[in-house]
Amino acid sequence: MVDAQLRARGIEDRRVLTAMEKVPRHLFVDEVLAEQAYNDNPLPIDRQQTISQPYIVALMSEAMELTGKEKVLEIGSGSGYQTAILAELAERVFSIERIAALATRARKNLDSLCYYNVAIRVGDGTYGWREESPFAAIMVTAGSPQIPKLLIEQLEIGGRLVIPVGDRSSQALLKLTRLSENPNDLKQEGLGGCRFVDLIGEHGWDNS
Ligand code: SAM
Repeated sequence: MVDAQLRARGIEDRRVLTAMEKVPRHLFVDEVLAEQAYNDNPLPIDRQQTISQPYIVALMSEAMELTGKEKVLEIGSGSGYQTAILAELAERVFSIERIAALATRARKNLDSLCYYNVAIRVGDGTYGWREESPFAAIMVTAGSPQIPKLLIEQLEIGGRLVIPVGDRSSQALLKLTRLSENPNDLKQEGLGGCRFVDLIGEHGWDNS
C-alpha cells in the first residue's frame, strides 16, 4: 500500500509514510472486509459512513505539516483510523464524531492499540472544540458546503485547516493556512478533487 499507492503518487513526508506503514488498517474495518483493507479505495463502516481511501488519508495528513509536538483537532472520527495516524504524527489529538456508536468503536480501536494521546467526544464538530483551542492543525474528514468560520477561529496563527469543500456529490480538498489574527486572512491551496460523506451539523449540511 505504502509503495504502490502513496510513494508512487507523490506522498513524501517520511513521518506520514512511517505512520501508514505502522497502523494496522485492517483492525479498523469489519472482519469480512479485512482482506480489502489495504486496497486503493474507501470502505464502508457502520451507519452508512466510510473509512477514507489510504491515499486521501496520507494526502490530508501530509498537508497538516506535523512534527510531533502539536495539538490537533479532527472532525469525523469514523473508524478511528485517521485518528490513529494523527496520534502517530502529533502530540495530542482531539477528535469529534457526531454518531455515538462510531465514537465508541473508534475509542475501542484506539485503546486496543494503546493510543492514549487521543480524546474523543460525541457532538457536532462544526463548532470545533473551543476549550482546547488553539490548534496547530485541524482536519475535517467529511464534505462541507463552506469553510466553517468557527474552525478557522480555533486555529493558531500559521495553523492549517484541511477540509473538503463543495456540494454533496464532489468537493475540492482545501488546505487553508491562517496568516494573522484576522480569520479572513487565509492562504488557500487546492489539493485536488475528492468525494466525502456529508459534514452534518449547524455549520455543515442539514440532516434531511
Ligand atoms: N476519518 C475516518 C476514518 O478514518 O475512519 C472516516 C471519516 S468518515 C469519511 C466521516 C465521519 O464524519 C463520519 O463518521 C461522520 O459520522 C462524521 N461526521 C459528519 N458530520 C459530523 C459533524 N458535524 N461532527 C462530527 N462528525 C461528523
